[in-house]
Amino acid sequence: MRLDKFICKSTELTRTEAKKLLKSGEVRVNGEIAKNAAMQVHENNTITIDGNILTARSSRYIMLHKVADTICSNVDEIYPSVLHYVEVDKAFDLHIAGRLDADTTGLVLLTDDGRWSHNVISPKKDCPKTYRVWLRNPISEEKYPELVAHFTQGIQLQGEANLTKPAILQLINENETAQEVLLTITEGKYHQVKRMFAAVGNRVVGLHREQISSLTLGDLAPGEWRYLTAEEVALFS
Ligand code: URA
Repeated sequence: MRLDKFICKSTELTRTEAKKLLKSGEVRVNGEIAKNAAMQVHENNTITIDGNILTARSSRYIMLHKVADTICSNVDEIYPSVLHYVEVDKAFDLHIAGRLDADTTGLVLLTDDGRWSHNVISPKKDCPKTYRVWLRNPISEEKYPELVAHFTQGIQLQGEANLTKPAILQLINENETAQEVLLTITEGKYHQVKRMFAAVGNRVVGLHREQISSLTLGDLAPGEWRYLTAEEVALFS
């Protein structure tokens, strides 16, 4: 990890304050003065400020029930960042392991461990994410098997070179306003679920992420969050 990041992780300092401190020459790595904020440091390095040894805080792993009209970003835009919902110290040092659109609700994972979030997000890791999807157009019983096969074989999304990876489609029910389905995918292209249904002539009118691997929201109410258990963290370690 970068030296300035390590200092932030182990103190109350912001990144700017850490950089200032580095310039002042008060930080040493293995006894040598270190001024380069980008220097890579590891847990077995001894890093001191004014002779006091720093120990990095351990990483944090959190699940959040995202509400609509919030964004999966570290900066606020038209809508506020989901990080405002997580009442932890330095919440904005966390990042989002798999973003959802502003109008999508459901399970979001937050961490400051880049390797862990890579295991959640990378399509090479085949981590399944299940979405409850409400569609504008009903799917008839006759069309359903054909559509299931199409999603399994892969969908050609506009502007993409390759087909989507095999996805599992399950019909739930149809009510007077929308057709409800579950879709499980193992990648996370931009607006992927909406684009997959658009590619087969339908339209997503509601989207909720229910599950990532075996993790579900359980009884976490909209807007609530909790730390993951050690067992849950181990799923992606
Ligand atoms: N696919 C989408 O289209 N939107 C999301 O928020 C998540 C997956």
